[in-house]
Amino acid sequence: MRTPSFGAGRAVAPHDVVYVSLLCEDGEHTPAEHAAPDSAVGVDRGVAVAAATSDGDLFDRTFRTPKEHERERRLRRKLSRQRKGSNNRARTRAALSRLTGRVRARRADFAARTAHTLCAKNAVVVLERLNTTNMTASARGTADAPGRNVRQKAGLNRAILAQGWQGFKLACQNAARRTGTRVIEVDPAYTSQTCHPCGEVDPRSRESQASFRCTSCGHTAHADVNAAQNTLSRGWTSSLSG
Ligand SMILES: [Zn+2]
Repeated sequence: MRTPSFGAGRAVAPHDVVYVSLLCEDGEHTPAEHAAPDSAVGVDRGVAVAAATSDGDLFDRTFRTPKEHERERRLRRKLSRQRKGSNNRARTRAALSRLTGRVRARRADFAARTAHTLCAKNAVVVLERLNTTNMTASARGTADAPGRNVRQKAGLNRAILAQGWQGFKLACQNAARRTGTRVIEVDPAYTSQTCHPCGEVDPRSRESQASFRCTSCGHTAHADVNAAQNTLSRGWTSSLSG
């Protein structure tokens, strides 16, 4: 199926220019129009990879290597045994903060690069509006996927939180100021269990973290890419309704 295009954007969103100029508060130049005005992309901040797009691009990287993970665990254990106020404890704390700082910098770098790539290519970037409470609730089986693999989902939720999607959104908004991109957020409910081509909603279609197979039409796709395509459609709908 053809993904709805934002080509009709001229007609449906005459307020574009106003929106963009409001963001231009630091004197940085924001183009009145994006270089590719008809382009749009949906982004799923997924579980199998850090970010997947409706174009089928997967963005991912390791923020903390297994070795660093182990070292952090050791340092934390050591810290808990050391006497408060001692020099040794201060040294351990410093080592720990160097380690977490490195991981944080990597994450920020990933967010900035991915955001820049997406905004340079697209006039509209549609993101899922995620919030911590909903994601934690879905682990207990109340929201997106009722009650399946509860423990596994709890782990996944932690992983998503750790990947810092809030930072990614800010990076997109920041990159958008230089490219004239519009960043839209949409409700992500059921995007991961809806078949993009046929619209069937079934939690069983999501076979695993990475694979989607529609129980109705048999369509198969990378699960996060399928979700990103639904996110894009939703952004199109929400921009039509203003
Ligand atoms: Zn289907």
